Amino acid sequence: MKLDQIYKRLGIDEELFQLGAKTESALAERFAEIDRTAEICQMKVIAAMQKNRVSAECFETSTGYGYNDLGRDTLEAVYADVFHTESALVRAQITCGTHALALAMSANVRPGDEILSPVGKPYDTLEQVIGITPAPGSLAEYGVTYRQVELLPDNSFDYDSIRASINEHTKLVEIQRSKGYLTRPTFSVAQIGDLISFIKGIKPDVICMVDNCYGEFVETIEPSDVGADLVVGSLIKNPGGGLAPIGGYIAGREDLVEQCAYRLTSPGLGREVGASLGVSRSFYQGLFLAPTVVASALKGAIFAANLYEPLGFPCVPGAAEERHDIIQAVTLGSPERVIAFCKGIQAGSPVDSYVSPEPWAMPGYHSDVIMAAGTFYQGSSIELSADGPIEPPYAVYFQGGLTWAHAKFGILKSLQSLKDAGLLPCIV
Ligand SMILES: *Cc1c(COP(=O)(O)O)cnc(C)c1O
Repeated sequence: MKLDQIYKRLGIDEELFQLGAKTESALAERFAEIDRTAEICQMKVIAAMQKNRVSAECFETSTGYGYNDLGRDTLEAVYADVFHTESALVRAQITCGTHALALAMSANVRPGDEILSPVGKPYDTLEQVIGITPAPGSLAEYGVTYRQVELLPDNSFDYDSIRASINEHTKLVEIQRSKGYLTRPTFSVAQIGDLISFIKGIKPDVICMVDNCYGEFVETIEPSDVGADLVVGSLIKNPGGGLAPIGGYIAGREDLVEQCAYRLTSPGLGREVGASLGVSRSFYQGLFLAPTVVASALKGAIFAANLYEPLGFPCVPGAAEERHDIIQAVTLGSPERVIAFCKGIQAGSPVDSYVSPEPWAMPGYHSDVIMAAGTFYQGSSIELSADGPIEPPYAVYFQGGLTWAHAKFGILKSLQSLKDAGLLPCIV
């Protein structure tokens, strides 16, 4: 059977199939560039695994206290080499990205210290961690203060205000690489390097921590290559490669990572405990696949922008823009379109394709949100998934795609869903 007929059976009409094919062929050069980055990152991962003598014994499991877990300890050495850091903590006991970030911050500040975000508001969930929004157990409750410097109107760093905000209490600077669900651009690793140099020029001993969520392997270098003291992320995003069922990582300076280990388990115990409970193989294999999985997700994001933008829907990043993370925002302009888009992504999923997502009042969000996630792991956003807050400007944020073919299909399904609902102004 021809590909267009296969697509037709899966609900994509000839007109959209052809539009997809045309869009894809125009992207050949950009896709080749993404593949080159993936190749470099793949070699980085293989080299780190070889150097640390990863062996079949590393896939054994530990239970209980988890003393002398070879797989866990070797994996941490592998992560440290991939990120070019002295040390890393990579654990199933780190439950998610927010937990990893909360851990890295709370382990490395003490009462009276101040945290600075020089890049505007941090990720939503960190508001309660820091105590920007009062919350039980926040760092504010422990006497840690917080300051924030907004970006300039052109989204560049406000160096004058950053200089003025660094004081004798400033202990840790939190730099979020990805835009997350904001409309500012994502920072390149080079931009983060400039910011860190500036900050270290003012206060050399300040800890520069980068929230690396959604950024890993998008470029050939990481923030830890340009001076970050700590890089932090989630294993159900990029570095888990879609195979890690849970987990987070913190890579960086030995003394700072050690503090994180004492905070995660207990003073005196640190990294010596923490059973791997059978996840080691998934962590290794996921990291091994991560560079090509990230490449698939990036191709999907670029494909979507190049499909939707010419139809009159503003995209962030724009169709022709360079990428520094895997998130794509598409402004659809109406609640009906947001809903139709997410229903299309869901209908294209390998799992739960027959269910129809509906907007609801999710905890932690200001408005109703619709989420499409036909994923193998709950909430896994390296798998093709989309979120649409039902509020102006009615944008959807989507990311992921374990394979390029699935990313392409899911995005065409979203467009088909809009078309079938009569919500596309014109289609050429
Ligand atoms: C996803 C994300 C987080 C939080 O991760 P969770 O696993 O959802 O807790 C933090 N920062 C950024 C930029 C993210 O994308």
